[in-house]
Amino acid sequence: MRFLSLVIIIFNINFNLSAVEFTGKFEQGSFILGKTKPNSKIKIDNKKIRISKDGFFAFGLDRDRKNNVIISISENGVTKTFEKKVFKRKYRIQRIDGLPPKHVTPPPEVYERIKKDNILIGKARSIDTSLDFFKDKFIYPIDKYIITGVYGSQRILNGKPRRPHYGIDFHAPEGTPVKAMMDGKVTLAEDDMYFTGGTIIFDHGHGISTLYMHMKDINVKIGQKVRQGEIVGTLGQSGRATGPHLDIRLNWFNVKLDPASILD
Ligand SMILES: [Zn+2]
Repeated sequence: MRFLSLVIIIFNINFNLSAVEFTGKFEQGSFILGKTKPNSKIKIDNKKIRISKDGFFAFGLDRDRKNNVIISISENGVTKTFEKKVFKRKYRIQRIDGLPPKHVTPPPEVYERIKKDNILIGKARSIDTSLDFFKDKFIYPIDKYIITGVYGSQRILNGKPRRPHYGIDFHAPEGTPVKAMMDGKVTLAEDDMYFTGGTIIFDHGHGISTLYMHMKDINVKIGQKVRQGEIVGTLGQSGRATGPHLDIRLNWFNVKLDPASILD
C-alpha cells in the first residue's frame, strides 16, 4: 500500500509538470503563447524566460528555424524537458522594381544615419519588461486595407536580391488612422528613419514588441502607455516606400516573427 501511494505521488508530479499549454503553431516565424503553473521556471532552447504571475510566457520562432525547440519546465525542483518539432514554410519571391536606387543601395553618406537608426530599433526590441499584454488577442491596426506584402518573402529590389520581408504591408490611403494592436508602452517614436520613415515600437511585455513603419504622423511619445484600438498616428509613405502603406512587424527580442501569427 505504501508502495502504491508512492507511485501515485510520482505520477501526480509528472502529470502536473506536463500541465503546459501552447497557443500558436510550431512553425517557422510563429509567435507561441504558453501557459503553465505560476511559480514554475521555464527555459526555451536553454534560455530562461519570464513567466507572468498568471503563468503566461511567450516566445517566437525564427523565419529560417530548422532545429526542434527545447522546452524545460521546472516546478518544485523537478525539471521536465521535451522537444517540439518546428514545421517549415515556403516563402514567396517578391520583385519590386522602380524604387529610387538610393533606397536599394544606400549611398555611403547615409551609412552613419542607418547605423544610428538600427541601434535605436535594436535597443527598443531588446527591452524585457513584466508587462503581460501579449497574452490577449491582438487586433488589426487599420480597418480597410489591401495586403500588398507578407512575412518571409524573399525580396528582389530593382533586380537585386535583398533581405527577406519581415512584415505585413497594409495598403490604404495616406492619412488613414492607425490603431495600436494591443495595450503597450511606446519604446520608440521617430519621425524620419532612413528605411522605415516614421517609426513606432510598442512593448507588450516579455520581449514581445510590435513596430509600425512609414507613418505620416505620429501622435505618441516614448514612455507613453497606449490602449488597444487607440489611434497612434496616420498611415504614410515615409522612408523606403513605393506608395502609402503601413508595414507592421512583430518581434520576440531580436527574433522577427510573422505578425499574422498574432492576428489569425
Ligand atoms: Zn513592407
